Amino acid sequence: MKPQQRERPVPHSADEFKVHVHNSGSEGLFTNAFIVETARSVVVIDAMMRVSDARGVRARVEATGKPLVGLIVTHGHPDHYNGAAEITRGLDVPMIATKGVDAVIRRIDDAKEKQWKPIFGEDWPATRRFPNQFVKEGETLHFDGVPFTVWELGEGESHWDSYWVVGRDASVAFVGDIVFGGVHSFMNDGHSALWLKNLDRLEAKLSADALLFTGHGAPSASRASLEAQRRYLHLYRKTVRELAQGKSTLDDKAKARLVQVMKQHLPTSDLETFITAGANAVAAELAREEAERADD
Ligand SMILES: [Zn+2]
Repeated sequence: MKPQQRERPVPHSADEFKVHVHNSGSEGLFTNAFIVETARSVVVIDAMMRVSDARGVRARVEATGKPLVGLIVTHGHPDHYNGAAEITRGLDVPMIATKGVDAVIRRIDDAKEKQWKPIFGEDWPATRRFPNQFVKEGETLHFDGVPFTVWELGEGESHWDSYWVVGRDASVAFVGDIVFGGVHSFMNDGHSALWLKNLDRLEAKLSADALLFTGHGAPSASRASLEAQRRYLHLYRKTVRELAQGKSTLDDKAKARLVQVMKQHLPTSDLETFITAGANAVAAELAREEAERADD
């Protein structure tokens, strides 16, 4: 499947910047990277997984005719940082993240390469780069006068999530994978209880009409998508709990049932492999929760 590319930038209330969405299509997990174009420069948010996708992002940066001045990474999953070296090849562009996000990238990078290079081959970037400019919770960077503010959530969808609020009226947020845009969710990191809490924290921070740009799926979604994500996580946890009955793994039959339930709830096959992939991680998380409750 060819990368899907939007012809026109997604409009929003402010005139100070435009957001171009680059989507990888199905083979790249429907991942999004965002090209934030201001009057005189461009900032990229998240870096895609494959070389081909990263080149697509670079081409779109070049098509603006404006200099790339920063590359921001929301969280340390390869589909969001892998392509950074390719996107910034030959350019002196800072790669920006919080220390927490950076630590996860450095911790998992070798293992992810071992796991995925055999599958993606040449399309798995031979060199990856890591963040070299660090931001703290609540810090605002200005690019071409436009404010970009980072907020940290810690463990949630990934081992360390952050999100960025952009623009003077704070009406646009780049939320990484804290919210999935109408596709199935990645559950493998096993912090679903904290993820639910993070959704509340995110909701409290955003204005009611905020526009969310999500790491996968529909490139932009309303604040209502937070509630959809909450319902998805609650149902996933409830179903795994019932099927696992205290065990920290699910057998194949139970996993098949989990797929059935989640697809009934969200009738799409987009990223449905994530449903089974994360089942044992969540079963183990629930078993841990149970053990902690018993200790109290
Ligand atoms: Zn992702």
